[in-house]
Amino acid sequence: MSRVLVVEDEQHLADGLRFNLEAEGYQVDVVESGEAALESVQTEPFDVVVLDVMLPGKDGFTVMSEMRQAGHFVPTLMLTARGHAEDILKGFAAGADDYLTKPFELSILIARIRGLLRRKDWLRGVSKDTYVFGNKSVDFNRGELRVGEQVFPLTVMEASVLRYLTQHEGQHVSRKALLSEVWGLHEDTDTRAIDNFIVRLRRYIEDDPTHPRHLLTVRGVGYRFVQNPAK
Ligand code: CA
Repeated sequence: MSRVLVVEDEQHLADGLRFNLEAEGYQVDVVESGEAALESVQTEPFDVVVLDVMLPGKDGFTVMSEMRQAGHFVPTLMLTARGHAEDILKGFAAGADDYLTKPFELSILIARIRGLLRRKDWLRGVSKDTYVFGNKSVDFNRGELRVGEQVFPLTVMEASVLRYLTQHEGQHVSRKALLSEVWGLHEDTDTRAIDNFIVRLRRYIEDDPTHPRHLLTVRGVGYRFVQNPAK
C-alpha cells in the first residue's frame, strides 16, 4: 500500500484529502506544519508528499528545499495559490515534482498522485538503466547522477525529464511535449515552469551551466539534448 503524507494546516481540507485518498486505497498521514513534515519524512518511508505552500511557521517552499537538502527525494506535489504563477516556478526551483493550484478537483489530485507513483515504477523498470554522456552518467533505476567520483541524487521528475530528453537525443523537444509526456499536463500550463526545471537540471549536468553543451535551448521551440557535443 502506498503511503501519502499530506502537509496542510486547513483542517477541513486535510480531512477531505485524508478521506478521499484512503478511499483510493492509500495509507495517509496528515501533519499541520512544515516542521512536522520534515520530521515525518525523516522517520517514515512515504511514497508521495502533498505539500501546501501556505503553512504556519516554515512555508512550503522552505520545507521543500530543506527536504531535498537533507537528502529526501520522495516525489512531492505542491499545492499553490491560484493567480500566483511565480509560486509554481518557486516550487520547481525548491525541488517539487509537480504542482496543483487551489482550489482543485479531487479527481485531478488523485490522478497526479498516481502519475508520480507510476513514474517512480517506470524509472525502476527501464531496461537500459545507465546513460553515459561526457564524464557523467545517470543511473535511472537509482535516480542518481554520477560526475567522476561524486554522486548526486535526482528527484523523480528530474530523472524523468532527463530520461525523456536522452531518449530523444539530438532531436528538438518542445516544452509542450515535456509538459504532456513527462508531467502528463495537457492544460495551458505556464511553460516557464519547464525552463526553471531545466535551469535546475543544468546545474547538475553542465560543467558551466551558463554555457550548456549537453542540454541546449532551441529558441522558440524548447530543448535539445546532445550526448557528445563537438569539441
Ligand atoms: Ca494551508
